[in-house]
Parts: sequence; structure tokens; C-alpha cells
Amino acid sequence: MNALAQSAPLAGERREELRRRLLALGFDVVRFASAAPAGGAALRAWFAAGMHADMAWMERTVEKRGDASLVLEGARSVIVLGVNYRGSDALETRIENRKSPTENATWARYALHEDYHDTIKPGLGAAGRVLEEFCGVAATDYRYYTDTGPVLERGFAARAGVGFRGKNGLLISREFGNWLFLSAILTRVAIEPDAPLRPDVARASGDEPAGLLCGKCTRCVEACPTAAIVAPGVVDARRCISYQTIENKGAIPRGLRAGIGARVYGCDVCLEVCPWNRFAREGRKTLLVAREELTELTLRELLEMTPERFAAVFRRTAVKRLKLSGLLRNACVVAGNSGDGSLVPQLVKLAAHELPLVRAHAVWAARKLAGEQAGELLAAARAAEADATVLAEYE
Ligand code: SF4
Ligand code: SF4
Repeated sequence: MNALAQSAPLAGERREELRRRLLALGFDVVRFASAAPAGGAALRAWFAAGMHADMAWMERTVEKRGDASLVLEGARSVIVLGVNYRGSDALETRIENRKSPTENATWARYALHEDYHDTIKPGLGAAGRVLEEFCGVAATDYRYYTDTGPVLERGFAARAGVGFRGKNGLLISREFGNWLFLSAILTRVAIEPDAPLRPDVARASGDEPAGLLCGKCTRCVEACPTAAIVAPGVVDARRCISYQTIENKGAIPRGLRAGIGARVYGCDVCLEVCPWNRFAREGRKTLLVAREELTELTLRELLEMTPERFAAVFRRTAVKRLKLSGLLRNACVVAGNSGDGSLVPQLVKLAAHELPLVRAHAVWAARKLAGEQAGELLAAARAAEADATVLAEYE
């Protein structure tokens, strides 16, 4: 049997020294959890109800998400690392004072950085080397993930006392509010776990209930523009703007478009209304590269975006994975919601775009903004249209 399987847990001052060394790499939170299997009942119910939409890759890994030893055989501990990504005070002021969507479309805060998967990864690599050196283990004795693997970072984070799962389904820290990127290192090294926020509740139920420290608050549930939070801690991805504007590669259901408002990429509504953000402060950006200037792009600029400009502006950001077609689709929806008739020429041009996805959303938006004149303005595009999904937008 591997000697690690029988070794005594790292504890006391040695454990604190490991924590200090990991924090020194630029992480804002380092806490330890046991790798014991979780109940996973809530997650399985979520999949069974189809709330994961078409994210089948998530469903395929449901068993692994509940049991770390299926990801790394012999895993005994999970090191949970958090990076504070709250925006600058200047950004927060700008968001609070935002004007019409015509001037500035709204972006989820996480997108206003270079892709965090890429910038946090070197920190995780360094954390692995610390583990090797400090605990005398091999590179095969741990695995790390940041939102990219079959690991339920939020579950382990709650177990380690990083925070609690809010009614918005997110991990909420008393110190950093809703603004933590979470990573996890699964390891065969046994480390004495940190306590969850409410050990009594966690022990009694196995899975910690959502909303542990929410009290009577229901702000996120009420504020969600598309009523996607269907029960405490349960978000129906099919109704969620984050899913629809980022993960969904097809058409955005017509019934949800108005709720998207000015959100061109992701949605922070259920995060930003949460009172637990009151203690959050600007992130140190040691493992992040801010791209807050993206908020200065006007909606008109987005609608006129060329492939070359898209590649240059969104280089190294998560937005590039959406591709120009996805961004144009979203920008059309935001334009349709803006009430700004001066955007109609851009939309009429996009109604003749090479991709039916873009054409369909451009037609929807142009018809909303141009009213009775839409028929005349879109006549040429309609005469040339052969795609059934686009033609349906004319009806
Ligand atoms: S991200 Fe937006 S749409 Fe999704 S649940 Fe939160 S508030 Fe609702
Ligand atoms: S907004 Fe209120 S209900 Fe929602 S997660 Fe925050 S504290 Fe909980």
C-alpha cells in the first residue's frame, strides 16, 4: 500500500506553514477539506430535472463530482484556493452610474479579465511544486482544477469553511462576498481539514443546505431578471442569462430576450444584490490581469465588430471562446432592448450576415426598434432569406 495512504494528517504548525506558503503565491484564500465523498443528491436532482440545459459534459461527470477518489485514486484531501476578483472601485462606481445600454453594454465582472483559467494556472502549478517540496510527494500525487474539471469546487469550499452556498447557488465568503474564483487541488496527502462555517449543520445533513447564512433574505431570487432561481440554491440554466449568453451556442429563446436587458456577456445580478458583498474589497490581481476597459466598448462598436477587431480586442479573454457570431447575437439582443432607433442601420446590415444565427437576432432587434418601418427596411434581406429559423423571426 502507498505510504501516503497511511500517513498521519498534516496538522498544527506544519499545516499552517503550508497554508502560508500557498497564500504567498497570490491566492487570497487557502483552506483544507477532506476528500470524502459528498452526498451529491441535490446535484443529481438538478440533472434529472434537465436544468443543466445542453451541458451534457457536466452530467457525464456527475459521479466524479461527488467522489474525488474517482478523479485521483487515493485522494485524501482537497486544498481549496480562492482568488478575489472584485473589480476596482472605479469599475464599481462606473457600473453603479451606468447610463443607457447604447453607451455601455454590461459584462459579467469575471469577463473583465484575461481568461482566469490561464492566469491562475501558473499559480496552481507553483502550488503543486510547494506540495511536492513541502510534503515530499510526487507530481502524480495531486491534481488541480480551476472550474475546468469534474470537481465540485463550491462543495469542497463550503466543506472547508471558505464560505456557504447562497440561495443564488454560489459560494459566498464572509470576507470576499460573491467574488471568488475557486480552484481545487486534490491530493493523496492527508491534511487536517478546516471546519465548515456551521459544523453542526454540515454534520447533520451531509450536504450543507443552500442559504445557510442568508436568513430571510431573498434579494437574489427576486432580482433575477428571468426567474431562473427556482428554489433556494437551484438555478435553472435554461432560464439563466449566464448560460444563454455564454454557453448556449444556438438561438436565445424569444421569451428570455427582454430579460437580458443590457447584458451582453454573462449576468451578475444575483451576485451584485447580495448583502454579503459589503465586506468585499478590490482584488489584488496577483493572479489576474484586469481588462476593465472592455466596459468602454459601445453597443454600436460591438454591432460593427469585424473578425480582425474581435480577435485583437478579446485576445486572451474568456469572451474569445464565444466567437464573434455569439457576441453579435448577444449584441443584437441588447440592441433590441435598448430602445435606441439609431442602431437600426447596423441591425439591417447584420440581417444580411453570413450566419443564420446572427441574422435571426438582428431581424428580431430591428423589428423591435424600427416598428412599422421594419418591413421596408428589411425587405431586401427578407427577399434573400432561405433559412427557416430566420424567416420565423419575420413572422
Ligand atoms: S446569473 Fe442572472 S439570470 Fe442567472 S440566476 Fe443569476 S440573476 Fe438570474
Ligand atoms: S442575496 Fe440574500 S438570499 Fe441571495 S445569496 Fe445573498 S444573502 Fe442569500
